[in-house]
Amino acid sequence: MFPSMKAEFSRWCWLGWVHPAMPFLFWFPLALGIIGWGISRWELSLEQVFLLALPALLSWSLLEYILHRWLFHPFQIGGTLERLARSTHGKHHDQPDHLASALVPPVNAAIILIVLGGIFFLVLPIYALAVFMGFFILGYLFYEGLHLAIHHCKPRTRLGRFLRNHHLNHHKVENNGNFGVSSPLWDWLMGTWTHSKDRN
Ligand SMILES: [Zn+2]
Ligand SMILES: [Zn+2]
Repeated sequence: MFPSMKAEFSRWCWLGWVHPAMPFLFWFPLALGIIGWGISRWELSLEQVFLLALPALLSWSLLEYILHRWLFHPFQIGGTLERLARSTHGKHHDQPDHLASALVPPVNAAIILIVLGGIFFLVLPIYALAVFMGFFILGYLFYEGLHLAIHHCKPRTRLGRFLRNHHLNHHKVENNGNFGVSSPLWDWLMGTWTHSKDRN
């Protein structure tokens, strides 16, 4: 699926040696497992699952926007945060075709998801927790897969071309817009959507 994977990324050194397939191999079964467990443990109906999945996916896309806009692009403020951003997301901007740099390092993803799991535990009713968290993780994996595909695959659909164009424009304008990858929704709502001609 990703022709450059073999050549460039049999290994990836960032907080350990990791293959780019690792986030999917680890998080996908876990997400499906906790969704299945939550549905069966609390005997949730299809409608209840849908009503949990929708806000979970929206919450992920909002978090994706917030992290990308304010954590990974704080390049003007200096200090530790800027160094951290440059050492992770900055690498992706320096080498957009580098497969591993396009992924959130698994250790970082685990820390973020565990912290958020704790927050969801405090604010969500117990019956909703597992299914909500499972769909939230699926939202994260969708982002990872889409971001890799944007940089390494030719889109075949109109939607694919649109999302690719949206993100490649972010690589052009960097700090100035198009922070959403999975969706342009939050760029549209926050006024950071930048347009340019179709690049495909
Ligand atoms: Zn990118
Ligand atoms: Zn960026």
